[in-house]
Amino acid sequence: NSTKPSSSMSSPVRVVLRVRPFLPWEIDSNGDDRSFPCVALLDRDCGAGEEVAVQLKDQWSSRSECYKLDSFFGQSDRIGQIFDREVGAVIPGVFRGLNATVFAYGATGSGKTYTMQERQQSTFSLPLRHKLGNFSVEIAYYEIYMDRCYDLLEPKAKEIVAMDDKDGRVQLKGLSWVPIHSMNEFREVFETGVDRRKVGPTGLNDVSSRSHAVLAIAVTNGVSKGKLNLIDLAGNEDNRRSCNDGIRLQESVKINQSLFALSNVIYALNNNETRIPYRESKLTRILQDSLGGTSLALMIACLNPVSYQEAVHTVSLAARSR
Ligand code: ADP
Ligand code: MG
Repeated sequence: NSTKPSSSMSSPVRVVLRVRPFLPWEIDSNGDDRSFPCVALLDRDCGAGEEVAVQLKDQWSSRSECYKLDSFFGQSDRIGQIFDREVGAVIPGVFRGLNATVFAYGATGSGKTYTMQERQQSTFSLPLRHKLGNFSVEIAYYEIYMDRCYDLLEPKAKEIVAMDDKDGRVQLKGLSWVPIHSMNEFREVFETGVDRRKVGPTGLNDVSSRSHAVLAIAVTNGVSKGKLNLIDLAGNEDNRRSCNDGIRLQESVKINQSLFALSNVIYALNNNETRIPYRESKLTRILQDSLGGTSLALMIACLNPVSYQEAVHTVSLAARSR
């Protein structure tokens, strides 16, 4: 699709790739020179604008595939750089009253939570680093599990019913919005939510890789109200390869449906289609006010550097979304 105008500022959803560093046990015991990541940057600036080409390569066979994306962050790029460059770019818009959404997408173990949660404090400091002036900041934090919404800022992760308003848009009635005045306050409120997410709504242990978590930061100043959604998506496991059954299978069917719906929405937006299929999942219905239109959106596709199959699964969908 080299004829398509490149991403960056022109397309509604920017798609960037992030390869996390090797973890200690992924490095060859003889030293690190025999381990190499299954993905490499082929070309910066390969098309119109500033798109990049990457190559996925299987260490154990001669298989390889190439894809184009909007930007690439390799193993030596620090997470702070990604935030300053990519997330930082949408912050001024949020202060002008626009909505923005940042997704971390990828398989379990690819670094989504590290990107979106561990680093959320640095994201949050981005709005705070701006001169807040007479802006007030509020946050909400909820998760979508098996197509149901749970408020993580309420005791016991209270279920929130999503209702259609008169314009046919989904409203999360009763979702708590907590006012925030400092980094410390943010840390405290957010950490409580993070702890609730570990347990999960059904009491099942650690459903965090099987739910989508949304941190919403609203900045308001009387005239303008902007909102930034930071979303740690559920893992996009390949069902043909994991032997899921029972509740795991049901979860993974829901996850795949919602991720596929998300990718369809992004594809429709980036290709200027007239009908955007928001209604095909709870996730996309909830995000309708923050995806498309004047909203800014960024998908960070996260890769584990050792798994070629997983990389193909993630990047093909991410690249298809553009
Ligand atoms: P996911 O949420 O996609 O399942 P995690 O964010 O939990 O993945 O990351 C998997 C592991 O990799 C964790 O141990 C995490 O600390 C580590 N990790 C991820 N990204 C980085 C990074 N940029 N630098 C160092 N460690 C990382
Ligand atoms: Mg995770």
